[in-house]
Amino acid sequence: MTEENLHDSPTTDPLDLHACTHGQLLALMAELGQPAFRAAQIEDWVWSKGVASPDEMTNLPKALRGALAARTSASSAVELARQVSLDGSRKYLLRFKDGAAAECVGMPGTRKLSVCVSTQAGCAMGCVFCATGRSGLIRSLTAGEIYEQVMHVRNDFNTRVTSVVFMGQGEPFANYDETLKALRRLNASGALNIGARHLTVSTCGLIPQILRFANEPEQFTLAVSLHSTIQKTRDALMPGVKRFSLVHLYAALGEYTDKTGRRPTYEFALMRGVNDTDEEIDSLCDFCRGTLCHVNIIQLNEISGSPFHPSTSERAQAFIDRLARVGVEATIRNSRGADIDAACGQLRQRVIS
Ligand code: SAH
Ligand code: SF4
Repeated sequence: MTEENLHDSPTTDPLDLHACTHGQLLALMAELGQPAFRAAQIEDWVWSKGVASPDEMTNLPKALRGALAARTSASSAVELARQVSLDGSRKYLLRFKDGAAAECVGMPGTRKLSVCVSTQAGCAMGCVFCATGRSGLIRSLTAGEIYEQVMHVRNDFNTRVTSVVFMGQGEPFANYDETLKALRRLNASGALNIGARHLTVSTCGLIPQILRFANEPEQFTLAVSLHSTIQKTRDALMPGVKRFSLVHLYAALGEYTDKTGRRPTYEFALMRGVNDTDEEIDSLCDFCRGTLCHVNIIQLNEISGSPFHPSTSERAQAFIDRLARVGVEATIRNSRGADIDAACGQLRQRVIS
């Protein structure tokens, strides 16, 4: 191909390198008279090296870099804030091109780096104990924007990411397609190559999507936020999922475990005097007994101005002991990064323009 047609002015919208498919990139290469292997080289820059600016793709011919700059775009997130917790976790506030912002967190361990990503800016579900739920939904994030959060954390720690939890702002299953695209991208061998079991999606309990997730071929891990198995209490705490009753949720989870053979995690944040009673323990034991599951008991993270407060460690232990007696595995999980408001439910929505 000649220099001239490489620099033809674009007649179509630029191709978003963070959102396009392999097929679209191949088509662009064909159009530019480039061999197909260039598409793989570009994807390697974007997905393995975290580079979306064609100028920096040094193994491409200069003329192609110029053509790519004219024909492609990439939503590069800007870091607006970075906070480091006493426990080593780091929270970032990233701003996307339209001004919507979302937070992500990196949690290092021994030879491990776990990343918590947001799937939406804000959240429409309105759980009363959650900081994200207070401000409503701004918009869903694209797969590229979800992926970028992981790359951002990876680059800051300069180490391999070993697991990703979709537990930041937003309800992943209210943004199912983009969430799945991001999961697949993270799992892909040409990209970060994170094992499907180390990719966990947490949902507040959207039943149709739980059933859809059961049919995906990959072994992604599912977490479900329960917080109460007494309908009245759950309705009050999680008004956004009122329409999906616990009876139906129980049946859907049965279908999920039958189909996949995988063990979902149930999250239960203890709130003093609200869902830490003996009646709640009895009910949770009934919900879990004889089923494939693992229960995570979490102490509620305090949100300023909230009427809800964490329970006591005695009550948390009572949950663990009683669940053990009916053969259900349960652990008390400590949230990381509470001192920088990076713990579960503390991520707040902001819009920066
Ligand atoms: N929307 C999804 C995932 C993001 S929230 C969901 O709700 O599952 C991640 C987890 O943090 C969920 O289990 C959520 O219920 C929990 N959470 C929300 N607010 C919390 C708080 N103040 N303290 C502890 N956990 C909280
Ligand atoms: Fe949304 Fe999850 Fe917060 Fe509920 S707990 S408001 S679903 S982010």
